[in-house]
Amino acid sequence: MLNGHQLAIFRKQLLGWFRQFRRDLPWRRTKDPYRIWLSEIMLQQTRVAAAIPYYERFLQRFPDVHALAAARQEEVLRLWSGLGYYSRARNVQKAAQQIVAKHGGEFPTRVDDVLALPGIGNYTAAAILSIAFGEKHAVLDGNVARVLARLGAIRGDIRESQQWQELQKTADRLLEPKSPGDWNQALMELGATLCTPKSPQCLVCPVAQFCEGRWLGIAESLPEKRKKRATTEVTLAAAVFADAKGHTFLLPPPRKTKEKVSADHVPTLVSKMWHFPTLSVSGEPAEKLSAFLRKLMPGVHSRDWQLVPAGKVRHAVTYRAITLLPFLIEVRNLPRFLLGKQVPLNDISSLPVSNLTRKVARAALAATASLQASTESYPFALPRFRRALQVLR
Ligand code: SF4
Repeated sequence: MLNGHQLAIFRKQLLGWFRQFRRDLPWRRTKDPYRIWLSEIMLQQTRVAAAIPYYERFLQRFPDVHALAAARQEEVLRLWSGLGYYSRARNVQKAAQQIVAKHGGEFPTRVDDVLALPGIGNYTAAAILSIAFGEKHAVLDGNVARVLARLGAIRGDIRESQQWQELQKTADRLLEPKSPGDWNQALMELGATLCTPKSPQCLVCPVAQFCEGRWLGIAESLPEKRKKRATTEVTLAAAVFADAKGHTFLLPPPRKTKEKVSADHVPTLVSKMWHFPTLSVSGEPAEKLSAFLRKLMPGVHSRDWQLVPAGKVRHAVTYRAITLLPFLIEVRNLPRFLLGKQVPLNDISSLPVSNLTRKVARAALAATASLQASTESYPFALPRFRRALQVLR
């Protein structure tokens, strides 16, 4: 590992490169810990380009920690809707409430206090403290770990606990103590722009001369692949009601329970947000769905409902490959059902919904449009659904 003079040159070259070539990102124009924290949470599992519009909309509505703490959770989720991994949004708001209650609305500066906030782990704490407050904490996430594994030609599974701890020690040793925020961002930027998972651009890398992986000709094969968890196939069926006014209804997120819920629990798979009545099926999906709806809405007159298959929606959640079969159920009037909320089928995003639920709405609208095209006596208003389809696309 580098030390002394070599380490000084390594730091100087990487920092110099970062200061000259860094991307101009909205969260790099501020030292406000609230904004930096929000960007770090949004960037977990989300690409920079996809996160930017969400980041800007979110800050317009919740410009500071007080506004976020006081908001209704439903509104927070609505603004997060489409970013996925919704526990991040719930945790951000819970953390904001704790910051207001315990720290007078000021973002804490002690690492233990930061780590005590929901949704903040070692990486996020180090990123916020170094960038916003100039504290000497080195970040280590997948991007940085890949760069370090290549620089040191480290073999094996770097996610394995002992390897990860060693990488953290390496990151701590390399940290530039005079500019820890810029230093951390420089390493992250290198991983995001040049030292990418495939085809690292070693020819233009500012620290190529220090890179053992490159010298050995193995950089691209590092870090070595982890054993992948086998994919589990899950089939779900969803009921999409549509009345003559173009309205449908969605079910609310499940209530909190102390009982441990299986990861295959359907509301968990639909992201604990507003969703179409959905169940896990094997065998005959339409029959199972009908039986489910009768149980869900006892006393509702369901004899005349026809379940029209509306294609297939595919979705992946971690190691689960979900095939969702939407069924369109056209009714004159939506069943009166206390649990559900009625919304226009072309505007289900007025409630917090997941991407999966949006895909289901799109499939149902497409089925509605093709029914209209094939049936002259179609009872519903054609232009409305055509418009709806355009809006959702
Ligand atoms: Fe990554 Fe290549 Fe630079 Fe090594 S030389 S750090 S592999 S981009």
